[in-house]
Amino acid sequence: MSILPKSIQAVIDQFARLPGIGPKSASRLVFYLLSKHPQDVRQFGELLGNLTESVVLCSECYNWSDAPRCTLCSSEGRSTHELMVVADPLDVVALERTGYDGHYFVLGGVISPVHGIGPDELRVRLLLEKVTRENAQLKEIILALDPSLEGEATALYLMEQLEPFKLRITRLARGLPIGSDLEYADELTLKRAIDGRQMIEKI
Ligand SMILES: [Zn+2]
Repeated sequence: MSILPKSIQAVIDQFARLPGIGPKSASRLVFYLLSKHPQDVRQFGELLGNLTESVVLCSECYNWSDAPRCTLCSSEGRSTHELMVVADPLDVVALERTGYDGHYFVLGGVISPVHGIGPDELRVRLLLEKVTRENAQLKEIILALDPSLEGEATALYLMEQLEPFKLRITRLARGLPIGSDLEYADELTLKRAIDGRQMIEKI
């Protein structure tokens, strides 16, 4: 049984549920907050509380945004010829560091039968609708999915679905550690993977 006041233990339990944070780190964070000025802690709480209300999914790329259309999709300076398909919003953060200046589409995950995720659980239909709408200006679709079995299977599935559009369909060059998460790759490795991207061969 915890010897801590209930209100402290409750916050520690919440922190401990976050990815990568164990009970010890959670306690350290909460005690750090207790040492701060109450006004700062209140502001932190308010920002956290408003998080889900202040962000929406961009209607173009499905990345998190504070406007119906995100800053990347609204930017005039980006190339409309390339569309990079990624699994998660964090992948966009990683790929943006490489200097890529085309557009993105966030699929919402990868196909994973073990976890019950099929194409219908992802934004495959929305991707096909976007490609249909933008077919005239699009030249290439880059499938930037994790170098894992699921990522590979998803890339092959998307390639089949995208084939009728007669666009250049590529995927990132090999060289990223197999089974790794794209978001953790360093920017040089990612940039090399983009520069060396290859056409997908049918198997
Ligand atoms: Zn967007």
